[in-house]
Formats: sequence, structure tokens, C-alpha cells
Amino acid sequence: MTKLKIALQKSGRLSDKSAELLREAGIHFPNDGSKLRTEASNFPLEIYLLRDDDIPQYVADGVADVGIVGLNVVAEKDKNLKVAERLGFGKCRLSIAVPKNEPFSGIADLNGKRIATSYSRIVSRYLKEQGISAEIHEISGSVEIAPGIGLADAICDLVSTGSTLLTNGLREVVTVMHSEAVLVARPDLSREKAELLDKLVFRLQAVRKARNHKYILLNAPNERIPEIARVLPGMKSPTILPLATEGWSSLHSVVEEDTFWEVIEQLKALGAQGILVVPIEKMIV
Ligand code: ATP
Ligand code: ZN
Repeated sequence: MTKLKIALQKSGRLSDKSAELLREAGIHFPNDGSKLRTEASNFPLEIYLLRDDDIPQYVADGVADVGIVGLNVVAEKDKNLKVAERLGFGKCRLSIAVPKNEPFSGIADLNGKRIATSYSRIVSRYLKEQGISAEIHEISGSVEIAPGIGLADAICDLVSTGSTLLTNGLREVVTVMHSEAVLVARPDLSREKAELLDKLVFRLQAVRKARNHKYILLNAPNERIPEIARVLPGMKSPTILPLATEGWSSLHSVVEEDTFWEVIEQLKALGAQGILVVPIEKMIV
């Protein structure tokens, strides 16, 4: 039987969330991070645990068929890969930072400067697009200390909260790219493997939609239902059930996490009572 081979980060920022996403998609596999290779018991999937930097190469070479890795790594390695799905975790940005007391009025200030980074390909491409000529110093780790030790005038590194920059006396001045974990695939998968990939993507989408939505139940006087239904369109339209109390109904629908609090306020203003909000495990639209 054909199996899809997936590469995940062995240990790092993406490891737990990658495994959790597969498990929420109903794919069971042993929880033994010490092994390089393991197999799912209920989905034709072989799992390879690798360093994130190696994942694009392994997928491009066909050692694995697909992989979960940061978009930043995909862009830097620049292999012939297809982004099959954005996964919504591991969000960060690749930014240029300068010593915090250094004046900075715009990207042109980087002309002739030395920039330390682990992302030399992305940074060169970006500077070229912006018409800037700077010297790029490729270093593999602890990029943020480079200006302090006189190795560079600026850095380009991954940032999520910015606290690492702050503790190293740096300030973020330019965002080069936004990143998140993505599922990448080899573009030339066999038909059987492409079908398995479609199944996997379908499941991952159902998990992500469910994470983004809540199921909501509330009671409302019948005359307010049309207005409330407009606030709560749900997947098609809300389910409305009569309550035992004359003139009242129960409404069931789905709300998005992003607009959740606004919707609740509007519902309260429209006379909704007994509002219950519950998590959704999977959502297929
Ligand atoms: P490996 O040992 O696998 O090479 P690593 O040290 O290169 O691991 P991690 O630090 O685990 O990598 O980061 C993996 C990915 O997590 C990054 O490539 C990026 O996509 C994402 N990420 C999210 N937030 C951050 C952040 N604040 N700093 C660094 N990476 C982040
Ligand atoms: Zn790495």
C-alpha cells in the first residue's frame, strides 16, 4: 500500500504543534521523539523527524513527500516545492533591526552597511528589490549579538514578540517577510500520493476551521429572531427550536473566534439570554 512520507521538525518550536495538529486530524502515531522514523497506525503515513533546515531538501529529493516547516525556511532554501497549506502556527516575522540608539530614517540608511543574518538568500533578494547595496554576513546562530561585538551594523532575524531584540539593545526597523508553519509538498507526487495529500489537507482544514469557530446556543424572544439571525449567519442559517416557554426560542449557530466578543455584545443588546459557547472538534463545510 502506498504511504505518504511526512517530515516534521524533530525538536524545536514547531515540533509539538505539528504533532498535535496531526493528532487532532485523527492520525495516531507513537509519541517517541527519540526515533527518526515512525508510522501512523490508522492513516497511510510515515513520519520522519528531522532538523527543520533539512526538511526542504529532503522533500525536494523525495526522501519525504511532504513536510511541515516555517515559510521562512522554505523561502531561504528555495527548492522546487509547493505550499499545500498554511497551518496558522509558528507565526513570526523576519525583520531587520539596528542598535536602538542608532538613527534610522528608512531602508536607504542600510546602503553600505554590514547586515548579519542566517537568511542570506532572502535578505539579498529583498535588498536587491529595494535597490540597496549592503554587505551580508551569514552567521548560523546568535545573530542578535553581532552588532554588540562589532561584527555588523544591523541584523536580519526572526522575531515574534521582539523581547530578544530588546534585551540585546536592538530595535526592529523593517519587516522583510511574515512567516508561519506550512505544509510543503514535492510538485511531482504520484497520483496515489497526491490523493493521500488531498485527504491530509482536507483533515487539516477541518481541524483549523474548528479551532477558529465556536458553537453558540442562546435563548431569545421570537420577535427578535430575525435580527439575531442576521448577526449569527452560521454555516447556512441558524437552527431555531421552540422553547417550552411561550414566545421564546433557542438558536444554535457557529461564530468565528476573531469576531466573537463583538458578536456576543450585539446578541446581548438584541435581548439574547442564556448564551452558551462550546468548542467544536471538527468542522466540515
Ligand atoms: P532545528 O534544531 O530543527 O534546526 P532551529 O533552532 O533552527 O531548530 P526553531 O528555533 O525551533 O529552529 O524554530 C523553528 C521555526 O519556528 C522557525 O524557522 C520559524 O519558522 C518558527 N518561529 C516562530 N517564532 C519564532 C521565533 N520567535 N524565533 C525563531 N523562530 C520562530
Ligand atoms: Zn534549524
